[in-house]
Amino acid sequence: MRALVLQDFGDLVLTELPERLPRAGEVRVRVVATGICGSDLHGYTGENGRRSPGQIMGHEMYGLIDAVGDRGTEVSLPLGTTVTMNPVVACGACASCARGWQQRCGAKQ
Ligand SMILES: [Zn+2]
Ligand SMILES: [Zn+2]
Repeated sequence: MRALVLQDFGDLVLTELPERLPRAGEVRVRVVATGICGSDLHGYTGENGRRSPGQIMGHEMYGLIDAVGDRGTEVSLPLGTTVTMNPVVACGACASCARGWQQRCGAKQ
């Protein structure tokens, strides 16, 4: 997949990354379009502290479900469904999540 990666502050690189198959309860979304907002611009410069080098940019997107992991009770959308999403991955259990700061969650998936 193509991804726009923040190589360093002020340095974006369009790169190819390996496709990942969704795990149980997950879906994979083929992004159709993503916006560029003010937090992206300030993250690019490093002035807001909300982006870090190595991060894939673009968080306001929509796309189509193109792969579905093993279906659990949480996933019921069929292939081809148009979706948008909250891209923040959070555990829901740590101190940051308990405070409502899911964007600061240390869980990485
Ligand atoms: Zn935004
Ligand atoms: Zn958390």
